[in-house]
Amino acid sequence: MQYDYELFVIGAGSGGVRAARLAAKAGAKVVIAEQVQVGGTCVLRGCVPKKLLVYGSEFGQAFRDAKGFGWTVDWARFDWSILRDHVQAEVNRLSGLYIKNLDGAGVEVIDDRAIIVDPHTVRFTASGKQITAERILVAAGGHTSRPADIPGQELGITSTDAFTLDALPASIVIAGGGYIALEFANIFSGLGVETTLVYRGERILRGFDHDIRAHVQADMQRTGIHIMCGSTITGIAPLAENRKLVTLSNTMRLETDHVLWAIGREPNTNGMGLEAAGVRLTARGAVAVDEFSRSSAPSIWAIGDVTDRINLTPVAIREAVAFVETEFMGRPTAFDHADVASAVFSRPAVGSVGYTEEQAREKLGKIRVFRTAFRPMKNILAGNEQRTLMKLIVAAESDRVVGVHIAGPESPDLIQLAAIAIKAGLTKAQWDATCAVHPTAAEELVLMGEPISHDNEAPA
Ligand code: NDP
Repeated sequence: MQYDYELFVIGAGSGGVRAARLAAKAGAKVVIAEQVQVGGTCVLRGCVPKKLLVYGSEFGQAFRDAKGFGWTVDWARFDWSILRDHVQAEVNRLSGLYIKNLDGAGVEVIDDRAIIVDPHTVRFTASGKQITAERILVAAGGHTSRPADIPGQELGITSTDAFTLDALPASIVIAGGGYIALEFANIFSGLGVETTLVYRGERILRGFDHDIRAHVQADMQRTGIHIMCGSTITGIAPLAENRKLVTLSNTMRLETDHVLWAIGREPNTNGMGLEAAGVRLTARGAVAVDEFSRSSAPSIWAIGDVTDRINLTPVAIREAVAFVETEFMGRPTAFDHADVASAVFSRPAVGSVGYTEEQAREKLGKIRVFRTAFRPMKNILAGNEQRTLMKLIVAAESDRVVGVHIAGPESPDLIQLAAIAIKAGLTKAQWDATCAVHPTAAEELVLMGEPISHDNEAPA
């Protein structure tokens, strides 16, 4: 062989690891480089530890709910260090499993930062060693953004830091109104931290269906989270005992223990030698790729968050599988990015797939909208006011269900199943022909009889 390896993968996150393992199993000689720890964002500082913290944060409400069912749990106490350490132990266990699986597939793992020297050569920054590969796959992921121009921004933390805090703060101010901001606002609030969300827009969760946004915002406020819309943080100054003084664009000032930046993520492309190797970057600094994840350099591909397409773990994995099928199995495959469902693990949680009401009106014109809101059975005895909202968007002409949006307990699990029906293009009549499972919240999805709006009626 002309090169040392057939495939060099940069970044051992969910996408990179899957590509490396599958290519090695297909018979290729593969090496993967990781500069931090095998596992990547999802396993080490994203989805997995976040969901474990969400579970931990839900017990407080569960203990309150339990009273209506005859239980008394007045002795309940929370210890942050126990939850934090258990979560870290679990993510380290998973990282170990990833390494074991790579070894098992015959992939060589190198713990070093890799820089591209030319379209077939990579250099390691610590060892200085250079190796060559027929193909290079960039799966370097992304990192949390910080505002460049806000005085004292360095006093704030990011979601990465939040997992390993020495102590649970008494108060926190979170900047942003997207996935990470909402998930951490509900985690901290659920653990008893006084939580304030500062969001620059009019309503949180931009891009989601308008009813879902209103429902989630109102319910988070009901549970005691302060949400300040239409404002941004303009400065952070240090106070005694590690507290911070936060200044907002609306001239308000808040004293807090921590400020958490949750204002988006950026692709990890800086200083990687990509442009010099002929790889074109987008305006946001992501690797520009075609539907086969090919960059503008013929021997370099990219998958996952570094390409800034849909920044979700399962998407990175499907892009990895498609890459290996195309390049190592002789089956040209492009992952279809349409109708990818997503979930926000807030309280209430959100599950969403397909068009929002606004998108459907714009793209399809005539639509029918079905909506139901109800208090889940469990919450009635519990005396818990949280309600569930479900919405179906139907294309009037074809009767196809083109969007499903749910805010409520278990909605991330429900939306996975709804996504099958959306991807399969099932009609509302087929949803209705499906018999309900009783008593469940999910049964409402097949029991929505009358539309709340027809045609081009404007959303409320
Ligand atoms: P999001 O894009 O979801 O949210 C970013 C938020 O920050 C938005 O509310 C945005 O406002 C706001 N914002 C952006 N720039 C500024 C600024 N300069 N000043 C003030 N506010 C600003 O990003 P996240 O960081 O929450 O998450 C990154 C990505 O990671 C997500 O898009 C998602 O793809 C993925 N993710 C997925 C999760 C899941 O599947 N459950 C969980 C966590 C992350 P505006 O709306 O006005 O643009």
